Amino acid sequence: MSQGKKRSYKEAFLQWGFTKFVDKSVEKPQCVLCNKVLTTESMKPSKLKEHFERSHSQFAEKDIAFFKRKEDALKNARMDSSGYFFQSTEAGLEASCALAETEPNIKEIVRKKQYQPSH
Ligand SMILES: [Zn+2]
Repeated sequence: MSQGKKRSYKEAFLQWGFTKFVDKSVEKPQCVLCNKVLTTESMKPSKLKEHFERSHSQFAEKDIAFFKRKEDALKNARMDSSGYFFQSTEAGLEASCALAETEPNIKEIVRKKQYQPSH
């Protein structure tokens, strides 16, 4: 709808190791190699490529299947509480609370990683 204006994730970004991370319904690029979440403004090939070439040039030879596996592993790690939803509704309610509590922890980890000096 608003193509061109709003930056949104494209499958092609995975070639630089980036998947989509949704934070308060805002899409952000997340590196599947170091779990770093970049800003929405960085959701463009030049920025993603820059991060990849600077931090992960050793993976330059890897094919898309490698990044796909990394992406799946990352998503599984994010969703590790979702198994509880198969239980009763009450348990499911508890699980969604637990999930809500888990979320900030993930962000906290990511934030700490971002604060590490890169050079
Ligand atoms: Zn990275």
